Amino acid sequence: MVERRVHTAEVAGSSPARPILIRLFSLIYFMEFQRVNSRGYLFSFTEPYFTNIYVINGDKHIIFLDTYLGPDVVKETKKKLFEEGISDKPFIVFNSHADYDHYWGNQEFSDSWIIAHDSSYKRIQTQGKESLTRYEKMQRGEVKITLPNLLFRKKLTLPEDKIEFFHSPGHTGDSASCWDQVDRVLFVGDNLESPFPQINLLNLKEWQTSLEEYTKIDPKTIITGHTVIQNNKNLLTNNYDYIKNIQSLKINYTNFSENEKLVHFRNVRRIGGLYQEKGDKNKAKEYFNEALKIINDTENVPDNIERRNRLIELIKKID
Ligand SMILES: [Zn+2]
Repeated sequence: MVERRVHTAEVAGSSPARPILIRLFSLIYFMEFQRVNSRGYLFSFTEPYFTNIYVINGDKHIIFLDTYLGPDVVKETKKKLFEEGISDKPFIVFNSHADYDHYWGNQEFSDSWIIAHDSSYKRIQTQGKESLTRYEKMQRGEVKITLPNLLFRKKLTLPEDKIEFFHSPGHTGDSASCWDQVDRVLFVGDNLESPFPQINLLNLKEWQTSLEEYTKIDPKTIITGHTVIQNNKNLLTNNYDYIKNIQSLKINYTNFSENEKLVHFRNVRRIGGLYQEKGDKNKAKEYFNEALKIINDTENVPDNIERRNRLIELIKKID
């Protein structure tokens, strides 16, 4: 989801020398393209916020992971694939989850299988039109909400392409991932983010389990929705520790940058809000008080004064 903040591009810790990088200019956005391992094509868009589309040139299909903000983005990506000689097989599309920035280009694949988790289908069906109205300005080309047409609950395998899709709840309940066994590339959607993932639900135990699953798979490369390519497991390890420790509020933020503190503050405050909705006053208070501590320890800018005041009001209301 991108409701509460703008995704930011982050630089991976210690990526080895970058593969060939071609920059393609367009009037609408800016696209970076790079080859990944033996059969991967990574397209990174920087406008309106950094987002990846990943394409795997399988033996039987061209597997297109996430479709970003609309038909124009997909057309541009397909054009580049064509130039690279990747156009001789049918496409199979995958939506990592049903947030608008991951499926708005689906309409460009009307003749293809569009794979998603069962609950992504339901989310697009019920929330798709509303999100299109709400984020109308973000669309690239005229978006026609297009539902996935091949659904799974736990796992779906393309044996000939050596690709596996699996449910990995975290960032959202419907979040799913794609594992390329040949290149050992794991595509995780928004389950991993830099510096920390964005928490939307009280499903942290489940999220932790999904990240444990990622560790077990032991990927060589990780592609996320909104950060640069990860050629090591640092982001996975850091996000895992974060998701694990925030459940008991065991996070020492003293050495965090101001931006990290702000992301952490939003997460802690959000968890407080979720407990409040659930009627768990003690937990809500515990998280709101921690959020207040964090904001008191951040730069004294007007926005933070406002955040602090709103939080104090919230805490008072609980009593
Ligand atoms: Zn996203």
